[in-house]
Amino acid sequence: MRYDVIVVGLGAMGSATVYQLAKSGVNVLGIDQFAPPHKLGSTHGNTRITRLAIGEGMEYVPLVRRSHEIWYEIEKETGKELLNQCGGLIMTVSDGYGQHKSSDFLQNTYDAADKYGIKHEKLTNLEIKQRFPLFNIRSDERGYYEPEAGYVRPERCIEVQLELAKKYGATLNLNEKVKGFTADNSSVTIATDRGRYKADKLIISAGPWVTDFLPKYRDIFKIHRQVLYWFDIDDEKNYEAFREMPIFVWEFSNQRYDNFYGFPAVDGPQGGIKLATETYDTDTSPDDIEREVTSEEIQSVYDHYVKEQFPHLTSKCIKAVTCMYTDTPDAKFVIDFHPKHKNVIIASPCSGHGFKHSAAIGETLSQLAKTGKSDIDVSKFSFSRFRNA
Ligand SMILES: Cc1cc2nc3c(=O)[nH]c(=O)nc-3n(C[C@H](O)[C@H](O)[C@H](O)COP(=O)(O)OP(=O)(O)OC[C@H]3O[C@@H](n4cnc5c(N)ncnc54)[C@H](O)[C@@H]3O)c2cc1C
Repeated sequence: MRYDVIVVGLGAMGSATVYQLAKSGVNVLGIDQFAPPHKLGSTHGNTRITRLAIGEGMEYVPLVRRSHEIWYEIEKETGKELLNQCGGLIMTVSDGYGQHKSSDFLQNTYDAADKYGIKHEKLTNLEIKQRFPLFNIRSDERGYYEPEAGYVRPERCIEVQLELAKKYGATLNLNEKVKGFTADNSSVTIATDRGRYKADKLIISAGPWVTDFLPKYRDIFKIHRQVLYWFDIDDEKNYEAFREMPIFVWEFSNQRYDNFYGFPAVDGPQGGIKLATETYDTDTSPDDIEREVTSEEIQSVYDHYVKEQFPHLTSKCIKAVTCMYTDTPDAKFVIDFHPKHKNVIIASPCSGHGFKHSAAIGETLSQLAKTGKSDIDVSKFSFSRFRNA
């Protein structure tokens, strides 16, 4: 059987891509080694932050904006809520260390908001205290508020986009592992643990397994273990305030990676508040990652990020889950043709900040496969910016 396009990996990026391809009438085969959504890659944990003014760089704004449009289109078609624009608060000390290794995160956020006309407010310390009393901010901190920021439901997005892809005629092979590919000028062939398939184009969106397909580029994609924690609310009478609070990013100090982020209470009064830090110190892999979270890790996050900052959260951790960032050296994305094969396209797992852009990345990958060009400029996410690519 020959397809127009094969998509390997049906997580955040792949599910969006097969949906877009199938919807536009392309004969597409999507393959995943598991049955997404699952908890073994980079797209689980109930929620992902979305913000419009992207502190990681201006070039991302068109992607997130288009993603919001696509999610609203899908919500209309399916009746399922994917995106909740509950508002977003960034808090920082004057020279706070930004998320995803970005410097000047807050200033970049302001610049992106100004350039793209994104609604926002600059908040003083006192204004944050008055409007968001759940956050016990220190006197040297200030903030940025974006009313259209919020969160997306990652598992639901994958589920719905795969359902729609099927509805529009995609073939989806789940629990089938791709072992490798070959490409020549006219076609690509993939070998799996069940057979071989041919197509005109191949899109690789294999998440933290990306280097299985790019073994020569292991130094470009480094995997880092991250942990998501859900801390309990002290009293049910405070649940409503936590349910109504914005998502937040807290640049906690000017120490490297000393920032954390979190979400409103989306899982009911007993579900707790999800928050997470970022760590980049030790490289790992999907096979080697330690998936258990220790009580020492939980205690340390509670002591450093919760105890004083959230007087209405307790030290009881309802659950803790591990997940993987796959980081490039500049913490930006790779969305580009394979350095050696022009009929193979790579979508990286996006350095820990890709979900908010994933719907538009799917559309972009679909356009690149069909025409070689995309509506949104992704030239900043090229392979060629790396010395050895
Ligand atoms: C803890 C954490 C918090 C995050 N928070 C945010 C956030 O708040 N906002 C935001 O925008 N982003 C966030 N991100 C980043 C975002 O979640 C990722 O960028 C995105 O989910 C990556 O999706 P993916 O499709 O590349 O990978 P995945 O969803 O992991 O999908 C890859 C798929 O490829 C399949 N696959 C791999 N190898 C093979 C093979 N050989 N054969 C067949 N199938 C294969 C896998 O089974 C998997 O299903 C966060 C990430 C983490 C880990």
